[in-house]
Amino acid sequence: MEPLKVHKQKLKILVTGGAGYIGSHTVVELAKAGFEPVIVDDFSNSHPYVLQGIEKIIGYEPITYHMNCRNLDDLDQIAKEHDDIKGLVHFAAYKLVGESVKEPIKYYENNLDSNISVTKFCLKNGIRSVVFSSSCTVYGLPDKLPVSEAAPLKEAESPYGRTKQIGEYFFEDCIKALHPLNVISLRYFNPIGADPSSEIGELPIGIPNNLVPYITQTGAGLRELLTVFGDDYSTPDGTCVRDYIHVSDLAQAHIAALSKLLSDQSTEPKIEYFNIGTGRGYSVLEIIRAFEKVSGKSLPHVIGPRRKGDVPMIYADPSKALKDLGWRAEYNIEEALSHAWKWEQRLPELNLKQTG
Ligand code: UDP
Repeated sequence: MEPLKVHKQKLKILVTGGAGYIGSHTVVELAKAGFEPVIVDDFSNSHPYVLQGIEKIIGYEPITYHMNCRNLDDLDQIAKEHDDIKGLVHFAAYKLVGESVKEPIKYYENNLDSNISVTKFCLKNGIRSVVFSSSCTVYGLPDKLPVSEAAPLKEAESPYGRTKQIGEYFFEDCIKALHPLNVISLRYFNPIGADPSSEIGELPIGIPNNLVPYITQTGAGLRELLTVFGDDYSTPDGTCVRDYIHVSDLAQAHIAALSKLLSDQSTEPKIEYFNIGTGRGYSVLEIIRAFEKVSGKSLPHVIGPRRKGDVPMIYADPSKALKDLGWRAEYNIEEALSHAWKWEQRLPELNLKQTG
């Protein structure tokens, strides 16, 4: 991997949703790379502890605005206090697939409205460089694997996925209208793990929807057993295959994207898309076995029915990110699971109760 550009003068980057799971890890990597992250987060799905965790890693508590980025007046206030913001990383969004099916209005309202507000904010304040937090869910059920950025966007499996597709189309239309923006949309595969320091990690509220936090909570005895959602898919062992990526690698992809945007001298508005995955798929059963290996525990699990909306198999072709961003995943699956497990084991000591 090419060395990341470290700026002499600390460039200020606004990070919406910077107290969330991917957001907090990105704030850490931004600070380590010599940027000055400014967080705006409404803490609707994040724990205030996160700021202490970040401070333990980077040595100071990042400037944080406890506000909703959909509120333009609030954003104006930030602009008044910081007239030198050079880029935006936009994470703030609801992300639960199942909830989005039950409450589409909540998802469309929040996820689309926030895109509009932050874009207005950027245009008003001359901020061109934007990294948009997208997802491999925009591909729907892909025809070809590994999936590359050239694949067409098929029907999304959920309202959540659709808000990410619409988010990309929204930025594309702004570019077509020649709004002065330079956008990189990062299509994440499945983020897992935690910062190697175990000071920050994933803090799911209630019963985890995602596989890895469910596994670690089961390993910790907080859940009785894991249900594997279906073993009759046309995949090598019948269970679904995903491309699991260490959250710190994913965070690094944002630094690479920002560095590209900030060093781009051209003034032509544009948007580019990048897959952020490892390029390797693992089945649910493989993940269980890998977890058992790193934790030394056997994980109680049963096979249950399929979960609605799951695609059988998806993994990334991440070669464009390597070629154009100089980024690739560095951690392997065992390291990612071991960091997730270390973090889970720290939670009681940090007094971070997992509810639900
Ligand atoms: N999964 C499972 N049991 C669980 C949670 C997830 O078998 O309790 C499976 C799910 O069906 C999918 C994979 O694990 O095949 C990854 O699911 P996750 O929700 O973590 O991510 P997704 O790919 O759906 O965004």
